[in-house]
Amino acid sequence: MRARAGKVIDYTPLVDEALSRAEFKVPQVLLIDRQLAPERLQASYLVAYEPLREKFFDAHVPCEWLESNEPSYTLYTSGTTGKPKGVQRDVGGYAVALAASMEHIFQGAPGDTMFTASDIGWVVGHSYIIYAPLIAGLTTVMYEGTPIRPDGGIWWRLVEQYKINLMFTAPTAIRVLRKQDASLMEKYDLSSLRTLFLAGEPLDEPTAQWVQSALKKPVIDNYWQTETGWPMIAIPRGIEELPSKLGSPGVPSMGFNLTLRNEVTGDVCAAGEKGVVALDYPLPPGCMQTVWRDDQRFVDTYWQSVPDQLLYSTFDWGVQDEDGYVSILGRTDDVINVAGHRLGTREIEEALSSHPAVAEVAVVGIADAVKGQAAAAFVVLRDPDRINAPGASEGLQAELCHAVDSQLGAIARPARVCFVSMLPKTRSGKLLRRAIAALAEGRDPGELPTIEDPSALMQVREALGGQ
Ligand code: AMP
Repeated sequence: MRARAGKVIDYTPLVDEALSRAEFKVPQVLLIDRQLAPERLQASYLVAYEPLREKFFDAHVPCEWLESNEPSYTLYTSGTTGKPKGVQRDVGGYAVALAASMEHIFQGAPGDTMFTASDIGWVVGHSYIIYAPLIAGLTTVMYEGTPIRPDGGIWWRLVEQYKINLMFTAPTAIRVLRKQDASLMEKYDLSSLRTLFLAGEPLDEPTAQWVQSALKKPVIDNYWQTETGWPMIAIPRGIEELPSKLGSPGVPSMGFNLTLRNEVTGDVCAAGEKGVVALDYPLPPGCMQTVWRDDQRFVDTYWQSVPDQLLYSTFDWGVQDEDGYVSILGRTDDVINVAGHRLGTREIEEALSSHPAVAEVAVVGIADAVKGQAAAAFVVLRDPDRINAPGASEGLQAELCHAVDSQLGAIARPARVCFVSMLPKTRSGKLLRRAIAALAEGRDPGELPTIEDPSALMQVREALGGQ
């Protein structure tokens, strides 16, 4: 049971379903009862947290020594197929990389306090709420909840209360805070705070400038992926002192042989030339070892973008300036970034297609003022008359959103669901996602490849309210 933005979310049905699907018998489920809806906590398998906490509060847990290449964990991430990939990480390399990053990127020293405001289930949470600060001898502050509850000052109150030195979050959170009363930030003593780090999505200039002037502290962007486990582009500290440049997360981090490559020839791009952000073999410590139980998928997904060359593709476009600073220009594939979370449009399409009313669907990313991007879905129904009755369209939209929520989580829920009678495709049957996204954002779709039926684009335009 958990409250998110004031709404109680019942986790027990999710646990029930996971248990029923699990191939192994789960001996016990530990549940923290936050007293939000005690009457719902009936399941017989649950073990109460409080008495256990009392019992083991000061317990000393000995280290379990592992060979450094043992897997430490798998984190599932989106790609262009509907099937998420299990990013497998090792033990030794990851620990070394995180310790080095604390010193040479985040400038955290033993005794400091770090507050990473992220979801513990995502890579930023794994690396910088848990492992990195603890490995490097810092105190870590874990906070469960959004930045605006009970009010927009909660994070700054935490900084004052726990004398936080380093903060790390995503630009989306700052865009949310920007809409709050600015005096909430001034109310608290932020003198302990040295730096705010941001990552996970492009940091736009207005957001960077606003938070920098409101906090009067340096705000530093860094760029990485679930696959790399720690920043591959950042502003290094302690090795060489470089200034930050607005619009760029910095330069390639130590250990990353990162270059921009021409997407066809694989040649290294000249300064100022747009290319795919790629990494040379071998990847540095901390990066993924393979796709969990699927080495072939690891090779096929990441290492085959450029013929005859062993290059890891990030699937991000970038450009490097004369001084070596890289700017990220967006994805090369059909992956969108919603509030710092990477989602495959195909995954959302598959979740929507699981609803029996859906014949065909296209999901595209559209610009969103707070979340960076949001998903918009264009749905062709098996029976178009189904939405003729009053309220039927809204009812079906809610059912479709529920299908996405239950399969992928609320973060993937489309911001818009539009019904159309056909989708714009090329003669060879390829969906014109970029053209749909352009229309959905009110942009000119530009030059189009030969389109099967041009009226399909008109329909998309009409479904969007004739924009
Ligand atoms: P995830 O694996 O969920 O962390 O998502 C990684 C993706 O987020 C990258 O491939 C980029 O597309 C995007 N991303 C992460 N950090 C940044 C950043 N600092 N600037 C621009 N894009 C970013």
